[in-house]
Amino acid sequence: MHTADVVLIGGGIVGSSIAYHLVAAGCKNVLVIERETAQGKGSTGKSMGGVRAQFSTPVNIQMSLYSIPFYASFEERLGHPCDYRPQGYLFCATTEKHMAYLRANYEKQIAMGLKNVRLVAGDEIRSMFPLLRGDDIVGGSFCSTDGFVDPYSAMIGFMTWASDHGATLWKNAGVNAITCKGGGYEIATTRGTVCTRTVVNCAGAWAAPIAKMVGIDLPVEPLRRMLVPTEPFDLFPHTAPMIIDMSSGFHFRPEGRGFLLAWNDPEETPGYKTDFEAGFIEKILTRAADRVPVFENVAVNPKRAWAGLYEMTPDHHPILGESPEVPGFFFANGFSGHGVMHSPATGKILSDLILTGKTDLIDASLLNFSRFADGRMIHETAVL
Ligand SMILES: Cc1cc2nc3c(=O)[nH]c(=O)nc-3n(C[C@H](O)[C@H](O)[C@H](O)COP(=O)(O)OP(=O)(O)OC[C@H]3O[C@@H](n4cnc5c(N)ncnc54)[C@H](O)[C@@H]3O)c2cc1C
Repeated sequence: MHTADVVLIGGGIVGSSIAYHLVAAGCKNVLVIERETAQGKGSTGKSMGGVRAQFSTPVNIQMSLYSIPFYASFEERLGHPCDYRPQGYLFCATTEKHMAYLRANYEKQIAMGLKNVRLVAGDEIRSMFPLLRGDDIVGGSFCSTDGFVDPYSAMIGFMTWASDHGATLWKNAGVNAITCKGGGYEIATTRGTVCTRTVVNCAGAWAAPIAKMVGIDLPVEPLRRMLVPTEPFDLFPHTAPMIIDMSSGFHFRPEGRGFLLAWNDPEETPGYKTDFEAGFIEKILTRAADRVPVFENVAVNPKRAWAGLYEMTPDHHPILGESPEVPGFFFANGFSGHGVMHSPATGKILSDLILTGKTDLIDASLLNFSRFADGRMIHETAVL
C-alpha cells in the first residue's frame, strides 16, 4: 500500500500551492490526489484570475498582502510564469454610501500596510476613462498592485515545482472513502489506497462531500458564476484595470484582444450547475452597455462563454486549519470566489499549521472551523 506524510485531496490551485509550500518547507513525501485526467478542470480553470488586496476585513487583506507580492515574484521563485499583470482594480462608487464603504475599507487597508491603494475623485475617473459613463460616479478607489494572473499557469507552476522536488501527483484518481485507522487514515481512490496521518481537503466546490466521508458537515456550497469573453475589441484601452461598477456589480477586464465580462446574477441559487445559460448574455450586455456605451456594439460568441463554481461559506471567508473533531484532517476550503488570489497565502498557512501547529501570517483562529459553532463569523462584504 502507498503511504505519504501528507495527502492533499484535489489538484486545483489550492492543493498545488499547499504542495509547493510543504515541499519548500522540507516535507517532501506529499501526495496530491486529483480525480480528473488533468488539473484545472474544477474552478481554477474557470476563474477570472483577478487578484486584489482591496478587501474589507483585515484577515482577507493580510492574505492578499502575502499573495500579491508572491505572484509578483512567482517566476523568480518557481521558474514558471504566472502572468501577473498589475493593472489594478478600480471600484467606481455611484452613491455616497458606496463611497463611505470604500473610504472605510481604504482606512483598514492602509492601516494593514497596503501601499498602493488610493481614493479617487469622480472627475479623476472621468478623465482616466472618458469612455465610462461617468455622470453618476461620485468617486472610487484604485490599487495599482491589484490586477490579474493566469490561474492555470500558476497552478501548473506550483505543482511542477512541487513534483520536481519530491511531491507526487495522482491524476485520474477519485477519492471514494476515507477510513480512520490506528490514529491515521486510509484513503480509498480509484487508483488504489493510500495511508497517511495528515489529510487536507482541497476539493474546492466539492469540499462538503469529502468532509462528509469523515462525518463532518462542512458549510461550503457550490454557486454558479458565468463569464462572457468578447471578441477582439479595441475601442476601450487594454491597459485598463479591473473596473467594478458598484451600482450593478458589473465588472470587466481586458483579456487577450478583447474583454472578459462578469456579473453575478443575484437570482442564482446554490447547486452543482456548470452549464452556461444563453439568456445570461443579454443580461450582462445590458449592464455592460449601461456603464461602457461603446460596449453596445461589442461582439460576443456564446460558445466561448463559460460557467464555473464558487465555493461559498456563510461568512464568505475560507475555512482553514485542522478539524477540531477529526485530528489530522485539515481544511483549505470555502474561498467564496477568492481562491486563486489567496492560494499563495493558503499554501503558506496550511504548510505552517501542518508542520509546526502555528502560523505568523494571520491569526489562524479567525478562519478555523469552530468559528461557526462559536458564533464568531466575520463577514466580508467586498465579494464580487
Ligand atoms: C467564473 C469564476 C470566476 C472566478 N474569478 C476569480 C477571480 O477573479 N479571482 C479569484 O481569486 N478567484 C476567482 N474564482 C474562484 C477560484 O476559481 C476558486 O476559488 C479557486 O479556483 C479554488 O481553487 P481550488 O483548488 O480550491 O478548487 P478547484 O480548482 O475546483 O480544485 C478542486 C479539485 O478537487 C478535485 N476533486 C473534487 N472531488 C474530488 C474527489 N472526490 N477526489 C479527487 N479529486 C477531487 C476536482 O476535480 C478539482 O480539480 C472564480 C471562480 C469562478 C467559477
